[in-house]
Amino acid sequence: MDARDTHEPSFRDSVDVMFNRAAAMLDLPPGMAEKIRVANSTYIVRFGVKLRGEIKTFTGYRSVHSEHMEPVKGGIRYAGNVDQDEVEALAALMTYKCALVEVPYGGSKGGLCINPSDWDVDELERITRRFAYELIKRDLINPAQNVPAPDMGTGEREMAWIADAYKRIKTDDINARACVTGKPSNVGGIAGRTEATGRGVQYGLREFFRHPDDVAAAGLSGTLSGKRVVIQGLGNVGYYAAKFLSEEDKCLITAVAERDGAVMNENGLDIEKLKAHLTGTGGVKGFADAEFVENGMSVLEKDCDILIPAAMEGAIHLGNAARVRAPLIIEAANGPVTAGADEILREKGCVIIPDMYANAGGVTVSYFEWVKNLSHIRFGRMQRRHEEAWHEMLIGGIEEMTGAAFPTDTKKKYMEGADELSLVRSGLDDTMRTAYQQMSAVWNARKHEGVDLRTAAYLISIQKVANSYASLGL
Ligand code: GLU
Repeated sequence: MDARDTHEPSFRDSVDVMFNRAAAMLDLPPGMAEKIRVANSTYIVRFGVKLRGEIKTFTGYRSVHSEHMEPVKGGIRYAGNVDQDEVEALAALMTYKCALVEVPYGGSKGGLCINPSDWDVDELERITRRFAYELIKRDLINPAQNVPAPDMGTGEREMAWIADAYKRIKTDDINARACVTGKPSNVGGIAGRTEATGRGVQYGLREFFRHPDDVAAAGLSGTLSGKRVVIQGLGNVGYYAAKFLSEEDKCLITAVAERDGAVMNENGLDIEKLKAHLTGTGGVKGFADAEFVENGMSVLEKDCDILIPAAMEGAIHLGNAARVRAPLIIEAANGPVTAGADEILREKGCVIIPDMYANAGGVTVSYFEWVKNLSHIRFGRMQRRHEEAWHEMLIGGIEEMTGAAFPTDTKKKYMEGADELSLVRSGLDDTMRTAYQQMSAVWNARKHEGVDLRTAAYLISIQKVANSYASLGL
């Protein structure tokens, strides 16, 4: 059942309910909460593209939620159900997300009402370039003002088209590459951007498990290792989260839900094989070594330690929240738990690591990419070999003084200066750790007032945005 079929508020209203809860706990100047909450502007464009012998009209959106910092940032989504309410909700979440993890952007989001699978690659390119043109000419794509990125239904390919469209129009903009992030590496992308959101989910969970009191609050104990994880959605975010958690943290992915149903295996699913099956057949049905259920949504109610909704907004709603048994939910998608469901889950004692933190890995690495584009040099290019030489000298000195040889493996690891990917992962890890520590501190200090992790995240980000507005003289 879709959340929008119930009597629940819309996605944007749902975000506002959560915002209002936190804003009421802050001592903000009169009118400030309202100023922060509302979307500054939403541009709607209807444009035509000549395709298959006729003119097809498409509807696109770019919403700017808050310009307390510029550029504003947020992905462009391609989906058949994109509408104004959705892009405004998502743009608001971008504002709070960027403030929380301290990436210096306001929030924005775009969307195109299109089902990408209805069109072939050449057609999609023409549609994307035309949509990009509409946004570029209004500075809704611009390295200094508004920087899109991938979201559902878009990826590196679409970002490359957008970057090229911008370059063709603004031929004298030396920072043209910074007009969009999530690009392929050959046109100014950065190592680790594609995996970033899933990687951020992993780093977020690792940091959560470094806080034993928080782990206990969820009724769990021990480390991430061996935890049973259910994932909804094996797209870019869900796939990397599942892959890293199973391969590197020894979690057991006991169920994966996709569009055509869900597969389950209590001993853990092989994510690489499952992804290959999904790519090859278009679904999870028929995957070997697993039990299949047609009602994929039912696995959200399955007994597990960690539930990761990594697909659409509104996956957990008034209709199923009471039956969700996971003691810990990490929101890899944007808005997967409606405001009503959030209340039910909170009353049950379920701990929710909120979206604005959990999926901030994507925009964090987008920030690194944007900085790289503006500096016109890849991270590590100047210092890597210099560091390597210094490390070599130090190891040589130790070996000479002690007369013993350094263990070969350690020596090799230590000698290699950091490449772009390790620097990106290090920056992302630091971002996720710092933000979690801030959230956890507020949560633990204000639990008696009913503050949970989501409210803590809102309290921190609203205060940061309010401080920016105050400095701007608003
Ligand atoms: N679409 C992603 C998000 O929702 C990434 C945004 C970005 O990198 O700007 O956070």
